[in-house]
Amino acid sequence: MTTPINRRVLFVDDTPTIHEDFRKILANDAAVSDLEADEAVLFGTAARTDSLQFEMASAFQGVEALDKVKASLLANTPYAMAFVDMRMPPGWDGVETVERLWQEDPRLQVVFCTAYSDYSWKEVLARLDVRDRLLILKKPFDGIEVYQLASALTTKWEMTEQAAFRMNSLEQAVEERTRELSNANIIVQNSPVILYRLRGEPTFPLIYISHNITKLGHDPKILLASPKWAETLIYPEDQAKVGEAMARVLVKDAQGASIEFRLCTGDGALRWVENRYVPVRDQEGRLIEVEGIIIDITERKAADEKITLLARTDGLTGLANRATFTERLAQSFAAAQRGARPFAILYLDLDKFKPVNDSFGHPVGDLLLQQVAQRLKSCTRVTDLVARLGGDEFAVLQGEISDPASAGALAAKIQTALGAPFLLDGNEVHISASIGVSSYVASSPGPDTMLVQADLALYRSKDEGRNQYHFHSHELDQEVLDRVRLAGEVVQAIDRREFELQYQPQVELASQNIVGMEALVRWNHPTRGRLAPGLFIPIAEKTGTIVALGHWVLDQACRQMSLWRGEGLKLPVIAVNLSLSQLKRSQELIRDVTETLARWGLVPSDLEFDVTEATLAQLTWAQNDVLPQLRQLGVKIAIDDFGSEYSSFDYVRAYRVNHLKIAQSFINRSTTDPECAATIRAIVNFAHDVGIGVIAQGVETKQQQDLLTSADATTQAQGFRFSKAVGADRAGDMLREGRIDRRGESFTDESTQVQVILAPAA
Ligand code: C2E
Ligand code: MG
Repeated sequence: MTTPINRRVLFVDDTPTIHEDFRKILANDAAVSDLEADEAVLFGTAARTDSLQFEMASAFQGVEALDKVKASLLANTPYAMAFVDMRMPPGWDGVETVERLWQEDPRLQVVFCTAYSDYSWKEVLARLDVRDRLLILKKPFDGIEVYQLASALTTKWEMTEQAAFRMNSLEQAVEERTRELSNANIIVQNSPVILYRLRGEPTFPLIYISHNITKLGHDPKILLASPKWAETLIYPEDQAKVGEAMARVLVKDAQGASIEFRLCTGDGALRWVENRYVPVRDQEGRLIEVEGIIIDITERKAADEKITLLARTDGLTGLANRATFTERLAQSFAAAQRGARPFAILYLDLDKFKPVNDSFGHPVGDLLLQQVAQRLKSCTRVTDLVARLGGDEFAVLQGEISDPASAGALAAKIQTALGAPFLLDGNEVHISASIGVSSYVASSPGPDTMLVQADLALYRSKDEGRNQYHFHSHELDQEVLDRVRLAGEVVQAIDRREFELQYQPQVELASQNIVGMEALVRWNHPTRGRLAPGLFIPIAEKTGTIVALGHWVLDQACRQMSLWRGEGLKLPVIAVNLSLSQLKRSQELIRDVTETLARWGLVPSDLEFDVTEATLAQLTWAQNDVLPQLRQLGVKIAIDDFGSEYSSFDYVRAYRVNHLKIAQSFINRSTTDPECAATIRAIVNFAHDVGIGVIAQGVETKQQQDLLTSADATTQAQGFRFSKAVGADRAGDMLREGRIDRRGESFTDESTQVQVILAPAA
């Protein structure tokens, strides 16, 4: 403290001359210079070379003194001391004055000045009850005594103030620190972080552990006292790896280590914790302590596990997903190669899933997938793995089979299970499944190939009418390979002019007039003979070569139409089949159509595109708007094979198509199945009502023809009853006649069937 000492002194005496004396004494420094030196020794104040500067004030009565004290306090310049006379008539005497002054300022030090007393000193002391601020100076007094008292008491006043100030600051600091510590303690108690310290020498005893270990059911005192605290806390299986982490910390210069382990709680449960060790070393690098932080990560661990599980399962059905399936497949394959029991893969695809989705909505579609998943699970053993590979594709890994026939048995069981009706959100839904089976044999090339094989077998099941299962076989491989090879030859075959278009007339039932021709492609293969489109179109579709072929077909059909027109033949429309790949490349297709029509001098309405229901469903799925664009252009659209899959009138409405081509399978059954006949009538009526034309496909008999005519004579028909698909010349002849008169006898001509010959590759 460097503030100047408070040397303010108040004289309280009714005798003015006494005041004069006091002032003289305190102003006279020469007389007291020796005393200063003593004071410096006594109270530790700096010895000064200059004299003490007292600030002196006078009051002649007690009341006046009180006013002065009050004023001094207000001005924040309190008096350090007062010399007070004992008798001051007519006002308060010395004792009363002091009592009043102390009420105002208890720090004021008082020297009573008296020659004699009206009180005994004992009485005075008892009444004032303060001994350390009161001195008595008996008259007549010596100047040196007065000076010494003033000097010592003013110094003492200042020192008492400073001590009080220091004490106060200290108390505040202690209070603050205590508050901080208690806050920190609360944070530690409430935090999931447990802190501890180990002494940095074997056996690394625990010297501190934060109290919140009690939350995990342990008493810190017991742990601190136990040499086996680590065994108590660490799950036995994890003790070795914790030991390793600790060893890493002990290596000189190690910064620390972190490890996750399971901590045993006091009540026998386990919590996952993350533990960090921080070594504390002295300047020489010697380990003094190891500080540890334990964080409870049980919840995070659980979330991690859930994420891992989610990454391995299909969210909708809870079955394994593709990744898990292929992983297990690889394991089973490796095990079988090492001599474990063989296994089989069943690759499954739901027939008619898309129409369920389309007509009942996605939520019902989802329900169906979930119920299918349950039924699949109920058909299999725990050792089998059921997976959803995506969309409506499922797979079963059938483990440990002794006989390939058991895979067939499972396939049949699954088909029966899925054949039972599903009750979905109040709707009864029927589906079936096509299945491809691939069983492990010693010569199986690898897990991936097995999956491809199962897929090929599935493809065969679908191809042969669905709701069946097929085993993969060597022959199947050959056949598929062969088809793939064939698809690879398509582009070359276009250049070599191996393709040919045939035309099948479409007639109006009432008049028997030819109202259209459908262009159907054939491949005059140099080694395999004439190939029907069913043999190469689907695979060309898969390999993408269909696009080039489709381009060629469109050009040829339009060319032929143009030639016929040039000859003056009447043909309202030429029909061309479109495949999904062509439709998917919408801009390319639209350009191609526009250019081709222009090239052959045709208008868009001369052209009708056949698009199958299945293709339409896929386009809708992909939200492709190529069909509306084609309609905009003025090209006609017919829904091919209508009724074969979905019989959905939604498409009819959505795309404002020109024709429905009733599937041949329907027409076939129409004469034997009354329900089927009724459906055909309903379709015809509906189409009539909404102004859409109907073309019955594959009409072969008079009976079928009659049935259709009775439903609506404006119906058109196409089929062997009228004509098979024929070459351009023969078709031209028909057009010249203009009509095919088939009102009379029945007609079947086996020779018109296109021969399907699959010769071995050259
Ligand atoms: P589609 O468009 O439904 O054609 C009708 C098919 O039924 C033709 O078989 C035709 O020969 C056959 N057919 C017609 N009337 C009768 C009948 O009374 N009885 C029987 N049993 N069959 C009849 P094709 O020519 O073998 O064509 C099969 C499929 O190949 C076509 O079915 C079509 O989807 C596709 N296709 C044919 N040519 C092309 C083409 O140029 N491009 C595309 N993308 N697909 C084509
Ligand atoms: Mg067609």
